[in-house]
Amino acid sequence: MGRLQKILIPFLGLVLAFWFYSARDTFKPEMLRGKRVIVTGASSGIGEQMAYHLARMGSHVLVTARTEAKLQNVVRRCLQLGAASARFVSGTMEDTAFAQHVVREAQTSLGGLDMLILNHVGASYFGFFDGDVEHVRKLLEINFLSYVAMTTSALPMLKESEGSIVVVSSMAGKVGFPFTAPYSATKFALDGFFSSLRQEFTIQSINVSITLCILGFIDTERAVRAAAEVLRERPAPRDECALEILKGAALRRRELYYRYSSTRLPLLLRDCAAELLDYLVR
Ligand code: NAP
Repeated sequence: MGRLQKILIPFLGLVLAFWFYSARDTFKPEMLRGKRVIVTGASSGIGEQMAYHLARMGSHVLVTARTEAKLQNVVRRCLQLGAASARFVSGTMEDTAFAQHVVREAQTSLGGLDMLILNHVGASYFGFFDGDVEHVRKLLEINFLSYVAMTTSALPMLKESEGSIVVVSSMAGKVGFPFTAPYSATKFALDGFFSSLRQEFTIQSINVSITLCILGFIDTERAVRAAAEVLRERPAPRDECALEILKGAALRRRELYYRYSSTRLPLLLRDCAAELLDYLVR
C-alpha cells in the first residue's frame, strides 16, 4: 500500500499537471485581429518582427523608435502585410515626455489601446563594469523609466479594454551575467516593478495582464554583433521569438521563456544550486 501511494500519487500529480497545461487556451491569430497595439523599439530586431506578425494578423499597429526612415519602411511593409492600420511616432525614450506622447498618439489616432508592447533597449557595452554611473542612469531612463511612464499613461485605456502589457526582458534580468552590469540592472528593475504591479492589479481586480518575456540569445544584428564571439550557443531566430512573445501576450501568460531550453531550464537551478548556475553562466 505504502509503495503504491509513493508511485500513484506522483503519477496522478503528473497526469493532472499535463492535463492542466494542455487544457489551457491555445493561440489563434484571430485573437489579435483588430487589436490596437503599440510596439516600441520596432525599427529593427524583435520589435520589427512583432510589427510584421501583428500586421499579418490584422491588428492596428503603432510603432516607435528613433530612426524615422526605418519606421517608414516598417509601416509600409505592415500595410502590405495586411495591417488594419499602421503608423509611427519617432523620438527617443530618454525623454519621459516622449514616452507619454506615444501613448497619447494611440488615444488620438486609434481611440484606445489593447496591447502595450515595451521592447526598446538603449545601447550599452559588453565588458567589465567601467564605473560610468551616468551611463547606468541613462540606461535606466531608456530601458526602465520610460517603460514605467508609458504604462502609467496607457493604464486608463488598458483598463477600459481589459488589455495587456508586454515587457521584453532577458535572462540577464533573472541571473547575474558578467559583462552586462548596467543592462542587467535595468532588466532586474523591470522584473521587480512589473511583478509587483501584477500583484497589485490582482488585489484591485484590474483585468490588465502583464507578460514578462525572458529571452535568451536571439539573432538580431545588435545582439550578434555584441555577443556572438562570447556566447557558445546558436542564436534563436528573431521572427519565431517575436511570434512566441505575441502568443504569450494574447494568452495573457504571466511569464514567457524563449527558448525554453536555454532560459527556463537553467533557471530551475537558481534556487537549488546557484553557484553551479553562476559557474555555467561564466
Ligand atoms: P535591437 O535590434 O537593437 O532593437 C532595439 C530597438 O530599440 C530599435 O528599434 C531601436 O531603434 C530602439 N531604440 C534604441 N534606443 C532607443 C531610444 N533611446 N529611444 C527609443 N528607441 C530606442 O534590439 P533587439 O535585439 O531586437 O532587442 C529587443 C528586446 O529584446 C530588448 O528589450 C532586449 O533587451 C531584449 N532581448 C534581446 C536579446 C537578443 O539576444 N537579441 C536577448 C535578450 C533580451 P532606433 O535605434 O531607431 O531608436
